[in-house]
Amino acid sequence: MLVKQIDEIIKTEKKSLKMENLLAEMNPEFPVNLERMAELMGEEKTITEEILIYTLNKRQNIGKYDSMSQMFVFSGKTIKKQQKKEKKIKCPKCRSVLTNTESKCLNCGREFEICQICRGIIVEGKTLSCSSCGRLFHKEHLEEWMNTNRNCPVCKEKI
Ligand SMILES: [Zn+2]
Ligand SMILES: [Zn+2]
Ligand SMILES: [Zn+2]
Repeated sequence: MLVKQIDEIIKTEKKSLKMENLLAEMNPEFPVNLERMAELMGEEKTITEEILIYTLNKRQNIGKYDSMSQMFVFSGKTIKKQQKKEKKIKCPKCRSVLTNTESKCLNCGREFEICQICRGIIVEGKTLSCSSCGRLFHKEHLEEWMNTNRNCPVCKEKI
């Protein structure tokens, strides 16, 4: 009986380590849902949830898990550390520097699409759109999002 229990603890500990490694590789800017995490872990959702809660009991600074929405959100600390420097974006028409809060150029009035993930202006080139709702995203942002999620961040349909 006791041997069995110790066996279980060792197993859980191993899986917990695997999860920690997985979380460390993810982009902390984006929340992860349980379904995706279970996929990456190669475990049932219920087991994955148990391991996640077990892991977070040990390492509370990683982030928070909400069992209602089944979403894991990385803690702010990690996010700040990994945040990239913001690039200045110029209007392709008049070359004035764009503020990332307006969806049009304040100088020449040209309008732009907004990336639904970072809320930043999409000026040109590398974009991806959702086949269900048609919303546009920066290619790299949607790809990062897809590392940890399978659904569109806007309409929640499978991409
Ligand atoms: Zn302009
Ligand atoms: Zn973006
Ligand atoms: Zn969509």
